[in-house]
Amino acid sequence: MIAEAEKYLKEYFGYVQFRRGQKNIIEKVFEKQRVLGVMPTGGGKSLCYQIPSLLLDGLTVVISPLISLMKDQVDEINEAGIPATYINSSLTYEETEQCMKDLQNGEYRLLYLAPERLEHQAFLHKIKKVPISLIAIDEAHCLSQWGHDFRPSYLTIPRFLDFAGRNISVLALTATATPQVSADISRALSISEDNVILTGFKRENLTFSVIKGQDRDSYLTDYIKKHREQAGIVYAATRKEVERLHHKFTNENIKAEKYHGGMTAENRAVGQERFVYDESNVMVATTAFGMGINKSNVRFVLHAQMPRNIESYYQEAGRAGRDGSESDCILFFSPKDIHTHQYLIEQSRLDEPRKEMEYNKLRQMVNYCHTEDCLQNYILKYFGEEPKDTCGTCLHCTDDRSLKDATTEAQMVFSCVKRMRERYGKTLVSQVLTGSSNQKLRQLRLDTLSTYGLLKDQSQKQVNEFIDFLLAHQYLQLIEGAYPVLKLTNRALHVLKGKQKVKKKETLKAKNVDKENPLFEELRKERAVIAKQQGIAPYMVFSDRTLLDICAYLPADKT
Ligand code: ADP
Ligand code: MG
Ligand code: ZN
Repeated sequence: MIAEAEKYLKEYFGYVQFRRGQKNIIEKVFEKQRVLGVMPTGGGKSLCYQIPSLLLDGLTVVISPLISLMKDQVDEINEAGIPATYINSSLTYEETEQCMKDLQNGEYRLLYLAPERLEHQAFLHKIKKVPISLIAIDEAHCLSQWGHDFRPSYLTIPRFLDFAGRNISVLALTATATPQVSADISRALSISEDNVILTGFKRENLTFSVIKGQDRDSYLTDYIKKHREQAGIVYAATRKEVERLHHKFTNENIKAEKYHGGMTAENRAVGQERFVYDESNVMVATTAFGMGINKSNVRFVLHAQMPRNIESYYQEAGRAGRDGSESDCILFFSPKDIHTHQYLIEQSRLDEPRKEMEYNKLRQMVNYCHTEDCLQNYILKYFGEEPKDTCGTCLHCTDDRSLKDATTEAQMVFSCVKRMRERYGKTLVSQVLTGSSNQKLRQLRLDTLSTYGLLKDQSQKQVNEFIDFLLAHQYLQLIEGAYPVLKLTNRALHVLKGKQKVKKKETLKAKNVDKENPLFEELRKERAVIAKQQGIAPYMVFSDRTLLDICAYLPADKT
């Protein structure tokens, strides 16, 4: 049967060979197995049920959450010559009735179905009369509470599988399954471990970058102007931001469309069409745009704001380069975005464990923006892969600045965090280290203040960025609560003990301006007085017993 599948691949779709995973999945479908296929966005998941639908005896039912796109999807398949139809809430009663009759007469190979339909008794009664060979579940991560897009209506699917009977192949498909989500899906659908097919998440043709500290608008405009001949998507966090950027681009003579939930369906469709048929250069959109849109020559996906987690980011960025050609995925980072997401999570109706999970995902998204490791690998590791090589193309892989030793500076930060008893956040830690004149610091324990001003040649912003770097590389950890608090990890302890070095592309640049800071002066004096009283070296004065022997850099020279 697989030979015929290959023939159909050419005949119906015009492709010469299967992509990674497709053949394996299709074979298992023919063997009447239950399979979970995890392939990246653009990997070619649809083909894994479309081709079998032509070769199996009975109907192939595709459960998909993308109601608004079903018609387009079905039109496309019909065009390829596969008789297909769909049933969802957009059809009238009469249309649905007609469709059911046609199905019973065997007029279709493929039926697209909204999951809500599985709860309608009348529907179940009628579909029972149609022989089904395969049930495909697209966007299967919607089944998992741990996924980023949980849909309660998906929970009816296991019951539907029981109802449909034994002798039916089941194919669950998703692009965004972390090991936990994948385990969840397998459990719910009784898919055995051997039947989970991972093709790997790596997208060789995508080049990832994170841009920080540059003017967003001019970067975006310049980038798009340089790529006028290509198609790209600009994702923005809110409708307002979409409107603003769209207006800006249009003023700069860029051919841009827009797409967000506040527009009429008709206006959205017009813009989408112009973009898909290459009449426009860019689509400026909220995340509402893109799911199920089959445009393979998207050459760049730019994120004007940081998404709320890696799953969303990779799915959106993954819309670039579906045709396999080189494409750019560029993310703009601004600390403001973190607060927006925190606010949204806080305001959401999620229960506490779910909120905690969302915060955790957000933190990992932020770490992506601050890491200096290979960006593609960061994403792969997030999804539970152990990449062997670095991608060689991302921002960090192509950055030829050599690594510098930042161990001492890191030790200073860790010591400060430790002395503050791991009870304070980034702002206060960096204020202590830079010797801020903030009077609040006077309330801290004296011991803390022995790290006061250790990095006084740095701006608070620089120290904050350094802390972000240490967070991204898991030396530090941020414990969320009413106030997020910094804690040391084991890696940091190794560094403090001098057993591990910290390397960074750009170390903190000393500005060599001795700040005239009255508080700092006062503290130095205080420290000197106590030292004299106790008859010990000034740098020992505020040391913790536990850190006494490991903090060789203590500021003896500064007092
Ligand atoms: P996704 O995995 O994101 O659902 P799609 O099924 O939409 O991906 O497929 C993405 C693109 O790849 C489509 O344009 C599809 O026609 C194309 N494609 C799928 N399989 C192959 C193949 N074997 N050879 C070439 N192109 C393919
Ligand atoms: Mg798909
Ligand atoms: Zn890389």
